[in-house]
This record gives sequence, structure tokens and C-alpha cells, in this order.
Amino acid sequence: MTEPFVQVGIMSATQIDFDLSPHYIYKEEACTGKSSATYSEGKIRWRQQLYDELVFESVDGDSASFTLFNVVIGKQFHWQRVEDQKFRGNLKFIVEGNQITAVNVVPVEKYLESVVSSEMNATASPALLQAHAVISRSWLFHQMQSKTKENSGDRFVDTDESLIRWQDREDHLHFDVCADDHCQRYQGITRISSPKAIEAVCSTRGQVLTSEGELCDARFSKCCGGAMEQFSTCWEDKNYTYLRPLRDNDDVDNLPDLTDEAEAKKWILSSPDAFCNTTDKQVLSQVLNDYDQETHHFYRWEVSYSQTQLSQLVARRSGIDYGLIQDLVPIERGPSGRIKQLKIIGSLRTRIIGKELEIRHTLSESHLYSSAFVVDKGLDANGEIRFVLHGAGWGHGVGLCQIGAAVMGVKGYTYSDILNHYYPGSEITQMYK
Ligand SMILES: [Zn+2]
Ligand SMILES: [Zn+2]
Repeated sequence: MTEPFVQVGIMSATQIDFDLSPHYIYKEEACTGKSSATYSEGKIRWRQQLYDELVFESVDGDSASFTLFNVVIGKQFHWQRVEDQKFRGNLKFIVEGNQITAVNVVPVEKYLESVVSSEMNATASPALLQAHAVISRSWLFHQMQSKTKENSGDRFVDTDESLIRWQDREDHLHFDVCADDHCQRYQGITRISSPKAIEAVCSTRGQVLTSEGELCDARFSKCCGGAMEQFSTCWEDKNYTYLRPLRDNDDVDNLPDLTDEAEAKKWILSSPDAFCNTTDKQVLSQVLNDYDQETHHFYRWEVSYSQTQLSQLVARRSGIDYGLIQDLVPIERGPSGRIKQLKIIGSLRTRIIGKELEIRHTLSESHLYSSAFVVDKGLDANGEIRFVLHGAGWGHGVGLCQIGAAVMGVKGYTYSDILNHYYPGSEITQMYK
């Protein structure tokens, strides 16, 4: 096998402004300079003509680059912003719905250099960067592979009594991955790729994680909160041996039964030892980009709502009027303490929602850090009921914990130690040279 190309969806809009360096051609004609592509009657209008699809090929891989203007990054997250971004490789425009989408077609290893640079700070240890390169590569190939597979079964249950749904990433029909946090953050070469990230990608070139001969679905999130979650708490009802619920320290089997409500409460309200239990800024800055560092407390965190605030928030986020919310009751928790099914009891109706992401989405203006929380109900000074959510971790907690892995790297563990810890029983396999 030789190194493949990946198609990355960068942005969608009715008009996309772009700039090509002098090394691009469209159907053998040299193209350069500022231009714009506009959606028109199901087609792309460019230079007064209509096209089904437009591909600008780079003729000189290393010096050719193009710029896309006004790319939105961090969609729906608190760090959302707009910026101009520069890319290498080919530029393709396709029509999707009533918009056009700009797709970057780029060799996998080049894509990874940018992903690892975007996701990780240049101050990260080589072990952390190498571990990340391997899981980003595995994740990518798994994604490209699953795109061609059939969609697996029902993705939600929607009745009067319950709404259990989950979103996975098989959403992109016309390209492999998007450039935002939904898939992996990819910002082209706007932020100069760090030499250390490039070195980590090169030194692990072609390496992926496999288990029993199959490519691993190498999930990762920011902070597990002390325990790794299993797959079925967040997505489809299946589990993998290498995505096992374990304690995030050397004593991996020393994990209380957090599916038990009393144990979960004790766990979340305390600050148990774990690799990711750190406030060391030097370590946190390895994983968090500057704008992510706006938030520091996510190993243990707290969010508080008045009854009115919570009721209005849930109505707005879910589109369902529960009336005044009386209680939030965990029905089922996963082994990391993350709530898989939550009962919302309102004055007008009561319903169970799940899974993990649906809960986070419903209970916050953007996304709650995680669904591992316990609810404390009390009265505030005005005599109104107040809901305080005490929580643990940031993200779904399945697979590699980025903060924990950063700490492991600093402590001198190698990248294969880190991968073994977060994906027990997996192997590093060379896919291409
Ligand atoms: Zn995506
Ligand atoms: Zn962790």
C-alpha cells in the first residue's frame, strides 16, 4: 500500500472567496490570484460559467498553496471564530444542498502534520506527539473505511417516554472528514506546523493501531475525569476490547463501580488520583490551544442554574416544553460515571434522554463539559430552587485522555506505553512505508 490522499471538507457557504498561488491549474489552464466561487442553481459559478464540480490541481506539491477566506472554526463551541486559512494540496469545490463546499485533497501524512500541530501545542513531549500522530492516523483510516460500509441500524429511539440518540461521524457524504472539532481540527498551514509535530508524524509514518487484525477506532477526548468510558455509553450499543473502562493511572484495575449511583457520587465529588488530575499549566498548555485555555477547571467542575434558567434552557435546546423542571434523575451511568440516560421531570412532562452527547447538548448553551455529573438541588437567597451540577472530565472519555497522555509523556512514558494504557491489547502496525 502507498500513502493515500484524504478529502477534507473545509467550509460551506453560498459564496467562497479564495486565492491561488501561481502553481494551480484548472483543466490544464494555469490559475492564480484572488477569485470567488458562488452557488447558483444547483451548480458552482466561477468565471461566469456553471460547473458541477471544480478541481484546482496543485502542480508543485511543496510550494503550491491556496487560501480560503472567512473559515469558521470551533463551530458551536465557545471559541468559535472566523479566520483566513492557507492549505497545501488540491482545492475542490462541490455542491451540497444550496451551498458549495470547499474540499482540500491532500496526502495523509501532510494532513496529519497539520492535525497534530493544531491539536497539540509545540511544547508537548515527543511521546505525546507520537501517540497522537498514531491515533490521528488510525482514526482517519477507520473513518475512511467506515464511510464505505453500510450504516449500522437505528440511531435513535424517539417516543413520548424517551429520546435516546447518538451522533457518530458518518455524516460526511461527499468527503472523508471535516476540518473542525467534529472530526479532527485541521487548519491547513495557517499556523506554521511545528517541527516537533512534523518529526512525530515522520517518525511514526504509516503506523496505525490494530486489534485482532482490525483497525482500531481510536477515540480520544480532552479529559476522562479519572476513568475511561466504554463505547456504548456514547454511541452504538457495542463495545471494543481496546476501549475498556479503566482507571486513568498505573493501577488501571482499581476503579470503583461508577455505574452505581452512590459510588459515582463519591467519585465525582472527590478528586481521585489520575494522570489527568493536574492543574500544571505547563502540562495543560501542551494539549490546549491558547483559546482553549480560557477554561481550566474540567477535571472537576461546577455549573449552576436557577429553576427558571434551567427550564428555559432545556426548552430552547431540546425544543420540548417540560414546564418547570422539578428534577434531573440519572437512570443509567456508564463505568466512568458518565450518565447514559437521564430522566427530566417537569411540571408538564417527563422524559428520559440519552446518550452522553444528547445530555450534554440539552443541559448547556453550548455543550456541558461531560455527562459525568451529580445534581445538587437547593434553595437560593430568593427562595428559588437552584440546580448545581458537579461534574468530572471534558468530553466523552472514551479511549485516549489527552491531558492524561500529556502527563504520561512528561513522566517519561514512551508513545507505545501511552497507547497501551489507553487502548489495552492493541498493537502498532505499519500500514505503508
Ligand atoms: Zn466532521
Ligand atoms: Zn484521564
